[in-house]
Amino acid sequence: MNESLILQARNVQKDYKVRTRSGWGKVNFSAISDINLEVAAGETVCIVGESGCGKSTLARVLANLSPASQGKVLFHGQSIDALSGVDRKAMRKSVQFIFQDPYASLNPRLTLGQIIAEPLENFTHMSRTEQKERVALTLERVGLNAADANRRPKELSGGQRQRVGIARAIIADPEVIIADEAVSALDVSVKSQILNLLSDLQRERGMAYVFITHDVSVVRSIADRLVVMYLGRVMETGSAEEILARPRHPYTRMLLSAVPVPDPSRPMAMEVSHDEIPSALNPPQGCVFRTRCRLADEACKTRPPITIDAQGVATSCHHLDRVSEHVPAHQLQAPKHVVPVASNNLK
Ligand code: ADP
Ligand code: MG
Repeated sequence: MNESLILQARNVQKDYKVRTRSGWGKVNFSAISDINLEVAAGETVCIVGESGCGKSTLARVLANLSPASQGKVLFHGQSIDALSGVDRKAMRKSVQFIFQDPYASLNPRLTLGQIIAEPLENFTHMSRTEQKERVALTLERVGLNAADANRRPKELSGGQRQRVGIARAIIADPEVIIADEAVSALDVSVKSQILNLLSDLQRERGMAYVFITHDVSVVRSIADRLVVMYLGRVMETGSAEEILARPRHPYTRMLLSAVPVPDPSRPMAMEVSHDEIPSALNPPQGCVFRTRCRLADEACKTRPPITIDAQGVATSCHHLDRVSEHVPAHQLQAPKHVVPVASNNLK
């Protein structure tokens, strides 16, 4: 096994039970399925897709905040279902979360010092004095003042609250931070300050990030690897540089061309239509993207194969050859091999 792998998802599926429209029975639906991904030390994996595609669900399953319905999450190669108490605690220390709205996740009754010290309290044997010192250093590291330890969340701006969320996430030296829309609610200038802070911290401490966002500009600024999701499934995954330079999947092309929001007066990328987004409760059979894809035909009613090309980009589409028709010929690369979906892994 690759020693630097921290987290892996293997064919992960998460089902939810929801009430039917009539309000009588409940139905099961899969918010995410067939998810395969890896997070290695020091890298930033961006999970990107429109609202409702299952990003937060995946984040929670990866962090062991909710169990997978099928498949496995591995922490350093070990299934998280089988972790002993000690290893489970090690995982809780190593995998930290930053949320979109830190205010909702910061207890208003506690001081910033108490909030930030929580992981030290839970996962280390530091004395109160050592904790205070570490809190002061961490507050300063994230651009706040040591004296802020006595303030409370309600006294802070959105950007300052997000700095507190980051301080709490980094204080016990985690291996990976899962950031779920962590900068989505911030103004543009504050957003870039926070992204710079996160990049600096990563360079200093070598943490991995799983960065979840619907914002393509964020992806462009920080991603090493990309996982593009649509209706609970991975459409395309691989090196961010490769995918941003030459998106293979019609959905990725739509997502990247639709920055920041689709402009109805501008023609869309030719593969894509503006049709209504289907519901995760009742996804199309076969390729889930086919009802919005102009390349879709009969073949797309069956599940697409996963193609891994020479650059290692894996794409789930029946018509990659036709997507390529719209790419300048010198950029074309023949697929290296095609993995039938039955074998089911991106590796
Ligand atoms: P994203 O973070 O990409 O916006 P989510 O993971 O929050 O997407 O949601 C994926 C799908 O699962 C959505 O259709 C959402 O309504 C549904 N969902 C999320 N959480 C629950 C839950 N606890 N119970 C039932 N359905 C849920
Ligand atoms: Mg979400």
